[in-house]
Amino acid sequence: MPPTQPCSDLYRQLVDASPMGIVVIQDGRIVLVNRTGATLLGRNQKEIVGLPVQALAGSNDRRLSRAGLSELRWKRVKLAHASGEEVVVEARLIPFTYDQRAAQVLLLRSPAEERMEGGEIAVQYKTLVEKLADVIFVLDLSGRFVFLNPGFARATGYACQDWIGRHFTEILAPEYVLSVQERFRAGPPPGGVAQYEIEVIGKDGERIPVELRVTALRDASGREIGRIGVARDVRERRRVEEELRRANAELNMILNTMGEGVLVLDAQHRMVRMNRKAHELFGYSHAELVGKKYTFWCHPESLPVVEKQLAARVAGKSATYEARFLRKGGESFYAQVTAVPIIGRDGKFQGSIGCLRDVTHERELLRQVEELSEFNQRLIELAGVWIDVEDQAGRVLVWNEEAERISGYPRAEVVGSAAVWERLYPNSADRAKLRKEQRQQAGRKSQCTEGTIRTRSGNELVICWHSRALRLSDGRAGWLVIGHDITHQRLRERRLREYAAVIERMNQERTQLLSMAAHELRTPLTVIRGFVELMARDVDLPLRHREWLEKINRQVARLSDLVTNLLHVARADITSDRLTSKRVIIGPLITGVLRAVEPLLADGKNRVSVDSCAEIAVYADPKAVEAVLLNLVTNAITYTPPPGKIAVRVHDRGDTVQIDVADEGIGISPADADKVFTEFYRTPQARMVNHAGSGIGLAVVKQLVERSGGRVWVRSPGEGKGSTFSFTLPKYKQGMNDARTDLRG
Ligand code: ADP
Repeated sequence: MPPTQPCSDLYRQLVDASPMGIVVIQDGRIVLVNRTGATLLGRNQKEIVGLPVQALAGSNDRRLSRAGLSELRWKRVKLAHASGEEVVVEARLIPFTYDQRAAQVLLLRSPAEERMEGGEIAVQYKTLVEKLADVIFVLDLSGRFVFLNPGFARATGYACQDWIGRHFTEILAPEYVLSVQERFRAGPPPGGVAQYEIEVIGKDGERIPVELRVTALRDASGREIGRIGVARDVRERRRVEEELRRANAELNMILNTMGEGVLVLDAQHRMVRMNRKAHELFGYSHAELVGKKYTFWCHPESLPVVEKQLAARVAGKSATYEARFLRKGGESFYAQVTAVPIIGRDGKFQGSIGCLRDVTHERELLRQVEELSEFNQRLIELAGVWIDVEDQAGRVLVWNEEAERISGYPRAEVVGSAAVWERLYPNSADRAKLRKEQRQQAGRKSQCTEGTIRTRSGNELVICWHSRALRLSDGRAGWLVIGHDITHQRLRERRLREYAAVIERMNQERTQLLSMAAHELRTPLTVIRGFVELMARDVDLPLRHREWLEKINRQVARLSDLVTNLLHVARADITSDRLTSKRVIIGPLITGVLRAVEPLLADGKNRVSVDSCAEIAVYADPKAVEAVLLNLVTNAITYTPPPGKIAVRVHDRGDTVQIDVADEGIGISPADADKVFTEFYRTPQARMVNHAGSGIGLAVVKQLVERSGGRVWVRSPGEGKGSTFSFTLPKYKQGMNDARTDLRG
């Protein structure tokens, strides 16, 4: 099946693929040479075409003429090689028709080459056609297969002979039939090759993508006798393409999900590929970046670093470095870059790939940490407390200024040894105890251990120690010990305690004195009253004297009251004065009090009334209750100008009993309502009504009521509108101890 169409692609391919040198000669000139022929001559094909055949001959070798060479036998000839040397080959010269004219084919082979069986070009072609991986077929003009090479069977799975005589459309995938048939009818472009990308259906029904090239097949006269085609199964190619596409997509996916910006640079450091993060990092779009030099976004400050780094990549070195870059808006940031060179199989530098991570925030944190540690050191140094850091063995590692100042031991003497503690605590038992306590309280907040140190100058100071376990910078365990000098504080505390004791003693003495004085005063007063009463019995006493005696008697009575109150105050202050609570029915007690105050009412027109619920019992000391009532009722009479009403009312309040003493007297302003219960306080109105008041009575009342477990207060609508003094006492209940003693305090 030798092709007769000169220069057809297939023809050239076949001729080129021949392992023999083929040179076509026409009119003494070379019109065609195949690749093997050109290789034997050391030139390229184009150089040779057009040369006279003699140009190939080596020196003195004239055998390239027809007479010199045989059609059937290989003869050795010398040919001129491009290198200037001569090359020995074996040659045959065969008459041939080329381009419809007489021509010769010069076949060349190197002498070392294995002899080929048959020696026919046709045989070689046939071998070639059979061995080719491509499918080679010939169709007649109606489109039926007249030749199929074994490549057809390999690609489709069919036997070739089954398809000889069948129409090509039968093997096409249905959707291609119409278009391909149309192009088949139209014929290949004049002198050219029609190309198709189609799919055929294999024996097992699989669609096989095929690249098809078809050209016309002509006889010696140039008449078209059929078509010859070469088809290539492109499944493998498609598969590889698909894999490549997938790998590319996967790579993109990986790159895009990376938290770091990834950049690929070519050999000229131009950006050729980058992931999404890189766009985010710099704020530029893909189009804005591709083709740009990597240095274009470098901050001027980092340009030297980056250029040096790029040179290192060219030298095949990888590195991690930090540099400052600029975002699209001009904002700068720091990135940590890890870059590796891409080196080809040939060992040449092809570019680099780098990962970028924004470390601006980290750098800022680092700076802050550094600043902080510097600050901490200064803080430790200047802190107003003793700070020392020790290792487990008590060896001092840090000893601040305050530690120096308090202890008197300078840092140089102390750091590196534990000896300072022996001097601060000369007693080893003390030392061990302190150490133990310090270690125990480590970690417990606000606990401290106190110890008395001996300073370098021999003074004794009280130090309050706090300690914490800590990890030293080299990873070992250690202790942080903080000490406050509390010597002055302790001294002050001691002084205060001493003062308190003195004051307490003085108080006791004062009350004792008061109590004694009151007692002393009472006796002569009783005597005076006795004599006054005796004198008053004298019937012969002139009226004027009787009136004087009456006045004396009244003043003595007042004096006696005062003294009694004074005694109460004194007694209340003395710890030994006890109240003994018991069941007290309130009615008779009130009656007794009212009877006692009757003389005060005698000359006036004031009236005192008591309400009916006086059966109730309280749990209190009867003497205290009596004193309280006596005070309140006396006050009510004193501060109520006649004629006025004074009412004593008793209320059952559940757990307590409330007793009110209400009058229609001078009243008390809201501002004074609390003050009247403090010792010696008297309202201005009271002073006008009663010059002789002492301001002690209500203070005593308050003390007695509170010690009895009750409360006392006053309400008054205002000055001149009367007052109501009220107090409560615990109500007596079944089961209460019959007598409970208040031990005061
Ligand atoms: P004294 O009556 O000796 O002044 P008290 O301690 O008994 O002392 O009373 C203190 C003050 O309370 C009186 O000076 C007076 O100003 C005021 N006070 C007491 N009871 C009454 C009352 N019933 N009405 C108006 N003011 C009173």
